[in-house]
Amino acid sequence: MKSSHNFRKASASAVADEVLGAAVGKTADLLFSMRAAAVAAYPGFEELRDWGRSRKMEVSGDLATFVRRFSDRLEAAGGAAHFARDAREAVEIVTNIARGLGAVAAVKSKSMTAEEISLNEALPEAGVTVTETDLGEFIIQLAGEKPSHIVAPAIHKDRAQVAALFHETLGSAPGLDVGDLVRVARKALRERFLAADIGITGANFAIAETGTIAIVTNEGNGRLTSALPAVQIAIVGIDKIIPKLSDLPGFLRLLTRSATGQAVSSYVTVITGPRRQGEEEGPSELHVVLLDNGRSPLASGPFREMLHCLHCGACLNSCPVYRAVGGHAYESVYPGPMGDVLSPLLWGMDVYADLPDACTLCGRCAEVCPMRIPLPEYHRKLRVLRAGLKGEAAAWKAEAPAILTQHPLLYRTALGIMRRVLSLGRRLPDGIRTGLPGAWTVCRELPHPREGPDFRSWWEKRKSCHE
Ligand code: SF4
Repeated sequence: MKSSHNFRKASASAVADEVLGAAVGKTADLLFSMRAAAVAAYPGFEELRDWGRSRKMEVSGDLATFVRRFSDRLEAAGGAAHFARDAREAVEIVTNIARGLGAVAAVKSKSMTAEEISLNEALPEAGVTVTETDLGEFIIQLAGEKPSHIVAPAIHKDRAQVAALFHETLGSAPGLDVGDLVRVARKALRERFLAADIGITGANFAIAETGTIAIVTNEGNGRLTSALPAVQIAIVGIDKIIPKLSDLPGFLRLLTRSATGQAVSSYVTVITGPRRQGEEEGPSELHVVLLDNGRSPLASGPFREMLHCLHCGACLNSCPVYRAVGGHAYESVYPGPMGDVLSPLLWGMDVYADLPDACTLCGRCAEVCPMRIPLPEYHRKLRVLRAGLKGEAAAWKAEAPAILTQHPLLYRTALGIMRRVLSLGRRLPDGIRTGLPGAWTVCRELPHPREGPDFRSWWEKRKSCHE
């Protein structure tokens, strides 16, 4: 159970941190402009977005069937499918596999789904040392921090901070440039790849038709993590399912252009089952942990399209709030616009009540989202839902509806007071009205009080027509 989070408080120190602001702004700007150039150079991108949305609608419209199809095909290909209802079950599955193997060392490629279940915290308790192999994740692990971006986890750090960190933790020379820092990390990581018993990965896509997983990286660490250790465990959210193998190229075009502005990323690793006889590389055991953790209920609700998210990060790079505060202020594995919506949906409105407010409703996130997820609309819906929950909870707690409906005079008086308050509020000068507590009055008019009789008087006049 997560404790309740306060975005306003958490973001106050982030806004004041100039190094963080400059580092986040620099990388977000770069990714944003690279995306824009890549999209402009691909004339069919808008049609591709529509196609991607329709393919994902097909999956989210019948999620259980697609999950079953994927797991059947995976097992037919020799892999093992495991179902985890929540984070606790997923961690238990992974640690049981590790204990059964007597594993002591694991390498891991970047997986936000593994972050979601706090796998790195649980594995040492099962006697397994984990090494992150994505450069950004490796930096974060050395620093003892959490990722602050779903694609660029160390976006909040600049070169000087990373050089100082490597000097302190890996004993490298002080003040190294980027090229030398990469060489230091590569040397440290190669040894860990060779010593690992288990490779832990996520998957960008899980293909129902064939039971295949696809991992997209730029550093090759996903391929080494899945190819060198004898056992691979992939932690895969059930939202990663796509229908067919022939859909993969289209989704890759959408993902890589939106994430890093590339026509295709450096490595796309496509895995169907464990290593077969005669093959030279790949794990002899492949386990795929299919994580639900609150996803299934979304498929039949008003936020269904959140299941279509490709985790490309484009909405983060375009968001003025994310760019001002970075990712840690969200105190969730999923920051930025997609996290504002996903975190309350997965972990509860009581925990992340203020994240829907971390949004100016400027609409830039929806403009860049490759899956056309209506993020501003979802922010608004969550605000309404939250207001409804709060107001309704307070009213029911005070038994207000019961009291009002049993006392007509009280009911009419309460309505009259409400009308008067709204009329007075609407007549206040701008400077005072916009200073009223609550964000609504800053940029919106108070609603018009409804003129005419209340329901009781209305009914008194008309009930004879219905008798
Ligand atoms: S919501 Fe859209 S833009 Fe944001 S990470 Fe998901 S797919 Fe990318």
